[in-house]
Amino acid sequence: MHGDGIIFVLSYNSRSDKGEQTCMKLHEYQSKQIFARYGIPIPKGRVAATAAEAKQIAEELGGRAVIKAQVLVGGRGKAGGIRLAKSPEEAEDLATQILAMDIKGLPVRKVLVDEAANIEKELYLGITNDRAARRPVLIASASGGVDIEEVARKNPEQIHRVHIDPLLGLRDYQWRDVAVGMDLSKDHWRTFGAIAQGLWRVYIDHDATLAEINPLVITNRNQLLALDGKMTIDDNALFRHPDLAEMRDLDVEAPSEIEARKYGLTYIKLDGNIGCMVNGAGLAMTTMDVIKLFGGEPANFLDIGGGAGAEKVAAALRIILSDPNVKAVLFNVFGGITRGDEVARGILSALDEVKTDIPMVVRLAGTHAEEGRHLLAAADMVTAETLADAAQKVVALAKGEKVR
Ligand code: GDP
Ligand code: MN
Repeated sequence: MHGDGIIFVLSYNSRSDKGEQTCMKLHEYQSKQIFARYGIPIPKGRVAATAAEAKQIAEELGGRAVIKAQVLVGGRGKAGGIRLAKSPEEAEDLATQILAMDIKGLPVRKVLVDEAANIEKELYLGITNDRAARRPVLIASASGGVDIEEVARKNPEQIHRVHIDPLLGLRDYQWRDVAVGMDLSKDHWRTFGAIAQGLWRVYIDHDATLAEINPLVITNRNQLLALDGKMTIDDNALFRHPDLAEMRDLDVEAPSEIEARKYGLTYIKLDGNIGCMVNGAGLAMTTMDVIKLFGGEPANFLDIGGGAGAEKVAAALRIILSDPNVKAVLFNVFGGITRGDEVARGILSALDEVKTDIPMVVRLAGTHAEEGRHLLAAADMVTAETLADAAQKVVALAKGEKVR
């Protein structure tokens, strides 16, 4: 995850965000339900999985409704996933169309049917983690809506930020400063403050890495309303939020990443062709750096964690090889408590199970590394003593060159 501020916040669906996802995204309807519990005003509405339900909900809302595709990408409006219906029949019709859509490769399985708002002005309000500042940051703009990224790029002075001390929380003077910066009319201050405080509580209580309202609108009746909602939850905190963990939408995640989570592996698919199996996140990063140094491109990040038993290694290997781009695999294991010879046996028995012609290089270091290397060499595997040696060999193998 990148913590470099507005660009990250606003490029919710940027490539890097997808590739390095360690956060769970909630759907708009889920985020807005949470917002409502914290006193943030949202439009009346419900989620529907069929066009008939959508019609029914539109009827309950009095006919005029907005039909919104529930997919975990930004820019649904521009992609045609958000449409205004003037009658229940039109709602049914539009829901049929939207439920048949794919938006940026994701199938639409549900639509949110909300009371349509008459918008006077669109604002932006979000909270995310600013890694560089090592604290959360509240970001707001009077120029919210679908073009906020453009605003951030071309008119950065229209984006207001204030860092929040996690122990003190959001102070009233802080959101007031922001309201002044936004030139928000005084009659909205009380509600705006309540919304900002509500969003802060939402962010903290759910271990969110992002809680965002875009647009936060001023309606023609001069009321503030959260028209859209986005939340991402830190994966590492999901154990304390079983209710949220259940909301995970598996449609958006690579099947390999779902499989990896089952085995307690940290796997992130990348675009290169050299599969990496490493124990320890730091070593995994180093391994990727050294592969790149020698002209290769890693196909994944994978930390097998402690205890490289055969079952775990086999699962990791299956996951790495499920990526058709992989042309060679590098094992880089540092034996501390786990002994090198055990790791070697694990790798060999995993290879027994996962039959493959993909060439592999094993670099073992640490406890009983030499015994491990002997076992592997006896089984005709390419071994290496140093990471530099291993990386050079695997880069050559990925290019189809012979290595011994
Ligand atoms: P996003 O494109 O995925 O961010 O989806 P949003 O929920 O933010 O909707 C995009 C845009 O559609 C908003 O900025 C509004 O301009 C418009 N929109 C969404 N809901 C309504 C509504 O109830 N009434 C009107 N008039 N416009 C809406
Ligand atoms: Mn939006």
